[in-house]
Amino acid sequence: MSAQEHPLGISFEFFPPNTDAGREKLLHTRDALAERNPRFFSVTYGAGGSTQARTIHTVNSVRECGINTAPHLSCIGSEKTQLRDLLNQYRDNGINSLVALRGDLPSGMGGIGELRYANELVEFIRAETGDHFEIAVAAYPEAHPQAPSFEHDLQNFVRKVQAGANLAITQYFFSADAYFHFVERAQALGVEAPIVPGIMPITNYTKLARFSDACGADIPRWIRKQLEAYGDDSESIQAFGEEVVSNLCQRLLEGGAPGLHFYTLNQAAPTLKVLDNLK
Ligand code: FAD
Repeated sequence: MSAQEHPLGISFEFFPPNTDAGREKLLHTRDALAERNPRFFSVTYGAGGSTQARTIHTVNSVRECGINTAPHLSCIGSEKTQLRDLLNQYRDNGINSLVALRGDLPSGMGGIGELRYANELVEFIRAETGDHFEIAVAAYPEAHPQAPSFEHDLQNFVRKVQAGANLAITQYFFSADAYFHFVERAQALGVEAPIVPGIMPITNYTKLARFSDACGADIPRWIRKQLEAYGDDSESIQAFGEEVVSNLCQRLLEGGAPGLHFYTLNQAAPTLKVLDNLK
């Protein structure tokens, strides 16, 4: 079964661009990806509300094509009144899906806020808006970087789902086994919500390495060594990356993953190439 035919299907994540050129490019990307009938698009959010206006603007322009678009919403650094206003604004605008996160506060940016963890945000959204929103939360098959242990993080993941999340999207990873292990353990603790793998297409090694260090995603040695060996040869990096990520997606779907969520970085081509390779 291909990802496109899958009941949960595929979804694509964007970030809010901050230039006119970036905004124009994103609409081309959206149009190219919309042809694959995604279940939804999502748009990231800067912690503490730092991209709030841009996130709202981007959500509104992306969803003009008629595809359900979910804003990400993080609670760290925000007060309940701000979050309540934002939820009301989204609901009044006909938005019915959210990705609920704790977020990471940029250094030097204010206090933690009233809600400390994503489970508290999910509880707050449910208390304020009942069942209006479909809520997705983050999952970490390789454990969140700040978690003292895998078990501790898993318990906190379960807490978020029990607070009322409908769906989980994972941090990206390159080990299918890490994903299957996480899903098995979460299901054994009673999680029934679908856990959708987050997929990062590989296009640029330096950026990928920097980002992976920050978010705790492991780049296996055999992938790292091969990418390093290509140096500045971006064509080879992209070809190898496409093969690695396509094989990963194929294995995930064959192993029962309920869909795929692509971190597109506002580019269509790398994601489309992976989708085209799936049997
Ligand atoms: P939480 O689930 O709250 O977990 C954070 C840490 O606290 C973990 O170590 C966890 O084990 C621990 N913890 C959780 N609950 C408790 C509790 N009740 N008691 C004690 N410890 C607890 N960041 C952004 O800024 N903007 C985005 O748009 C964005 N989108 C993302 C989308 C996805 C799919 C993913 C996977 C990540 C995204 N992130 C985004 C990154 C995310 O904000 C960071 O990973 C952040 O550090 C954790 O957010 P969380 O919602 O997973 O937090």
